[in-house]
Amino acid sequence: MGIIRSAEKIFDISVPVVVIGAGACGCSAALAANERRAGVLMIERDDSPTGSTSLSGGQIPAAGTKLQKAAGITDTPEDFAEEILEKAKHQTDADIALAISRGSTLTVDWLVDTYGAPLEVLTDFFYPGHKKHRMHGTPNRDGAELLTSLLNAVTREGIDMLTSATATDLYADENGKISGVRIQRANGDTEEVGCGSLILACNGFGGNPEMVAEHIPEIAEALYFGHVGNKGDAVKWGVELGAGVADMGSYQGHGAVATPHNTHIGWPSITEGGIMVNTNGRRFSHENRGYSEQAIEVIRQPGKFAWTIFNETAHQVAMQFNHQKESVEAGAILKAESFDQLARITELPSEALAETIAEANDVIAGKKEDPFGRNFGEKAPLEPPFYTVKVTGALFHTQGGLVVDGEARVLRKGSKQALPNLFAGGGAARGLTGPSCWGYTSGAGLMTATTLGRLSGEGAATLVT
Ligand SMILES: Cc1cc2nc3c(=O)[nH]c(=O)nc-3n(C[C@H](O)[C@H](O)[C@H](O)COP(=O)(O)OP(=O)(O)OC[C@H]3O[C@@H](n4cnc5c(N)ncnc54)[C@H](O)[C@@H]3O)c2cc1C
Repeated sequence: MGIIRSAEKIFDISVPVVVIGAGACGCSAALAANERRAGVLMIERDDSPTGSTSLSGGQIPAAGTKLQKAAGITDTPEDFAEEILEKAKHQTDADIALAISRGSTLTVDWLVDTYGAPLEVLTDFFYPGHKKHRMHGTPNRDGAELLTSLLNAVTREGIDMLTSATATDLYADENGKISGVRIQRANGDTEEVGCGSLILACNGFGGNPEMVAEHIPEIAEALYFGHVGNKGDAVKWGVELGAGVADMGSYQGHGAVATPHNTHIGWPSITEGGIMVNTNGRRFSHENRGYSEQAIEVIRQPGKFAWTIFNETAHQVAMQFNHQKESVEAGAILKAESFDQLARITELPSEALAETIAEANDVIAGKKEDPFGRNFGEKAPLEPPFYTVKVTGALFHTQGGLVVDGEARVLRKGSKQALPNLFAGGGAARGLTGPSCWGYTSGAGLMTATTLGRLSGEGAATLVT
């Protein structure tokens, strides 16, 4: 796996634009390049594409979309970019944040209008860090639904895709200009395809334990909940080509993966007033600062787990998510008709638990300040029936990656100069999170996947048409 330096390599087959990876980024890139009349070939290691996209909640934030306007929501990409910077404590690139925020408005409109993506605005709760209702989700808030609609569009457009095909090596000249890709098939056979431009849409390195241990030791022992085929290939190729990488310690964690069931718990269980307690029956954090940073808070607790406790209202809001329904069916989310039943189910010390719930209810009622600085807003108190689920913290995807400009062109290390014909998006590119997990804006993963995907497809096509 690596870069093969060769200026003279002749390829039997050549395609104007090659896209490696068939998740949200790869599909968006392929559709955009195809629209500009460039021939496109997608290369995907799995026999049927799933990617982290299909594991996700399928929600894309965007500001100022037609769907928001139709729902009476006034919002602007500039305000959204400001919130992204606020969340990342201004430790990410402000120009890229603005470019992606502006681009995501067009991306969501484009996916809906041109390709029939089944998106709607979520208006019944706010994700942490969002001041406006700007999350666009599929009917069941499900990434598999989103990816199916994108893959259907790719098929309808007649875009070619090789599956069970892992890109292993890139051919490039001394200047870093890519001329082709070597592919390995499931039976070990190899093939080579030439290209005019190349898009890396093969996500980050969450599926590579050595790279996670090297770059993000704090989350290395935690469960990885993303797609295992994301092995950091884009970063490895990019570094060898002389590209810049940044924020390699950055990631999206998640503080609510049901254990031992390994299902994803919808965050409205927290936004709508839920709390998390450790095995001592005590809260340990401001749970709603962000689901990403809550991962590390949870795995710091005794036994690396916590119990989420929420009420009927929160449960009903969270039940719009397919993953929440799956968690109920799996028996991960349990219902307690009384406080005594809650204490019995969780086996938590009942005196401490009673104090914790009473104190949280005082904070919710505005009778006292939260010791962790959380403002619950106007939420219903924690009262029976309770819902509870044992959760652990997990790594969802890495946010460090190749440095790109506002047009998704991969930049040379320490320079604003782009490599000649290389583009990257989604988890392959540096995200908007800054150096750690706390800067992750809710939904930034699919926003950068679809928007940098679209921009990379447009740019890659322009080079070859
Ligand atoms: C449980 C979960 C929930 C999430 N929920 C949300 C959400 O609601 N909103 C949000 O914005 N983000 C969410 N995310 C993050 C989001 O899923 C990712 O940021 C996004 O899917 C990345 O898209 P992508 O196209 O870059 O990568 P992927 O969807 O992972 O696609 C990459 C593809 O590249 C292929 N590939 C990798 N290497 C090679 C190679 N060498 N050759 C060929 N193919 C290769 C892989 O097989 C894969 O199919 C969630 C993540 C998880 C795990």
